[in-house]
Amino acid sequence: MHFITFSLIACCSLALGWANEWGYPDLDNNQDEPFPKWGGLCDSGKKQSPINLHVKGSLKGEFDPLKFANYDEHQKNLKMVNNGHSIQLSGFDHELTLSGGALLHDYVVEQIHMHWWSEHTINDIRYPLEVHIVHRNTIYPNMTMAANFKDGIVVIGVLYHVSNTRNEAIGSIIKSLGAVKAYDSMNKPTLVADSLAVDDLVPSVESYFTYAGSLTTPTCAEAVTWIVLTETFPVTLDQVNEFKEIEYEEGKQLHNNYRELQSENNRAVVLVEMPEDRSGAAGLTASVSLILTLVLVGGQKFLL
Ligand SMILES: [Zn+2]
Repeated sequence: MHFITFSLIACCSLALGWANEWGYPDLDNNQDEPFPKWGGLCDSGKKQSPINLHVKGSLKGEFDPLKFANYDEHQKNLKMVNNGHSIQLSGFDHELTLSGGALLHDYVVEQIHMHWWSEHTINDIRYPLEVHIVHRNTIYPNMTMAANFKDGIVVIGVLYHVSNTRNEAIGSIIKSLGAVKAYDSMNKPTLVADSLAVDDLVPSVESYFTYAGSLTTPTCAEAVTWIVLTETFPVTLDQVNEFKEIEYEEGKQLHNNYRELQSENNRAVVLVEMPEDRSGAAGLTASVSLILTLVLVGGQKFLL
């Protein structure tokens, strides 16, 4: 009995400690400031995220297409919060369900948040923004439970590249940022003024890296199937700089909120490519026209 009581206190005080104290180095002020140790699995885990994703060394994969339900529905009651570590969106009117691909279950969107700069790198290149769409396996009742199982959580990672073109969907989020930027409004949710559909934040989903990893914030639970899309969306540096102005302490701005790269530890990273990419010479014209189309609509396609 005493042991159980002690364990509960140890667990919860540790959790509170994390909630209040963990953070990121301010790399805008000092590039050499080390990333702090967050403790627990964050330090001892062997399947941690993020990692560098590289085309060379990935395993080729082919799966059924990913299936998205309700991602195109415009959300009217989306809430935004500055939680001191990121900007997070939740409160979806419709249940957004992800299935298919290599997934054996249905997953629902719990929340969306961003990291500036990106957490994952691709071929050693870092991007200015990474959006995480966090999904829970519907066989588990909540995120706390889901975080205990290796099939508990799926996160879709979307990378954004620097461009002169303002990103409209990110612009919609930024429009409401003023209400949550200040330290006084931390942890106080505000309504996102513009109606936004989640698929406005998602480029093509036909080509992606997938691997088994972790949450990139404490508790760093190794419960995440990562799906990092290879197509990226444009964003301007001015837009990213808006996120850098949110406060996590009185007068202190969150200049960056990405975790340092973790060891791959010989994990399998699977690269799923668009069907056009494996079509050979006969499909070359189609591939070229597809790439041109993507360039024309402002997307950037990796030439693998
Ligand atoms: Zn994240």
